[in-house]
Amino acid sequence: MGRKVLVLGEVRDGALRNVSFEAIAAGKTVSEGGEVVAVLLGDSVSSLATELVSYGADRVVTVEHENLNAYTSDGYAQALMAVIEQESPEGLIFGHTALGKDLSPKIASRLNSGLISDATQIEEAGGNIVFTRPIYSGKAFEKKIVTDGLIFATIRPNNIASLQKDESRTGEVSSISVDVKDLRTIIKEVVRKATDGVDLSEAKVVVAGGRGVKSVEGFEPLKELADVLGAAVGASRGACDADYCDYSLQIGQTGKVVTPDLYIACGISGAIQHLAGMSNSKVIVAINKDPEANIFKIADYGIVGDLFEVVPMLTEEFKKLLV
Ligand code: FAD
Repeated sequence: MGRKVLVLGEVRDGALRNVSFEAIAAGKTVSEGGEVVAVLLGDSVSSLATELVSYGADRVVTVEHENLNAYTSDGYAQALMAVIEQESPEGLIFGHTALGKDLSPKIASRLNSGLISDATQIEEAGGNIVFTRPIYSGKAFEKKIVTDGLIFATIRPNNIASLQKDESRTGEVSSISVDVKDLRTIIKEVVRKATDGVDLSEAKVVVAGGRGVKSVEGFEPLKELADVLGAAVGASRGACDADYCDYSLQIGQTGKVVTPDLYIACGISGAIQHLAGMSNSKVIVAINKDPEANIFKIADYGIVGDLFEVVPMLTEEFKKLLV
């Protein structure tokens, strides 16, 4: 028979974030042949619904209201609770993003439900839906099942493969009207940091710099390599603390957690707090002039050398292959 699973579509700058499609794929596993219903919240989002269907959603429910223009936990919780009351799902999946991390505990508490956060894998095994999630800053993994009631989880971006896009798929799109009001937080203005395009937490390739980069200008060769690879630029806290780059680039225990296909660490020693944010990357390349640097212990490929020589050489070689 299967379950009905609601998944939250996340919109940024008028476009769906990839984690929305990954949540649909996760929802399919949790639904065990039931129905996956995607939810879209915003002030003008219904035009995005068909894309969710093409990535596998069986249905889409939208809630549009001017107070959903910018994310607030109050506004989103009101709108989402209205959808949950209408749909009575047996499963709920959000992305483990800044939004998902803020909203999911609030919804879990309103539903008196448990929550499995930051799942990196979901599978059916022995008649159960088994969630894998990292613990102890990624040094170990635990497996969890829900024995009773709602199955509610957030999924780490870039870990669960989305389904193949199929534009011939069809699915019903409906809307419900919710009077989103009494918000305790009003967003007056959103001031964005200027970033170089690729979203760090969803990037397939990350080029990260550490204190070995030595200055703001020292990041330039890394940015050039990132441009050629279509990568996002990240950093260690060492580089952020030294003011070589903005804290929004920090990766690690107290920064962003990334899981790209390729992580290139340049002049980063590999402190445990940094590894907590990137050790699950699929392929790790480390460039460091110290052959004893800890980062080499987890690197798939290590280059012992001066990053200011190695990085431009890599850029030139990749240019020949890719540009
Ligand atoms: P360093 O440790 O100074 O390493 C610099 C490296 O660059 C060295 O290995 C050196 O050999 C190499 N190098 C120098 N010059 C060159 C060159 N020309 N070419 C090649 N290699 C070169 N850190 C994080 O990154 N993220 C976090 O989220 C985080 N959270 C923390 C939370 C707590 C509570 C604490 C206590 C610490 C946290 N840290 C975090 C800090 C962490 O412990 C390290 O201090 C930090 O990661 C070190 O940054 P780094 O590797 O860039 O610098």
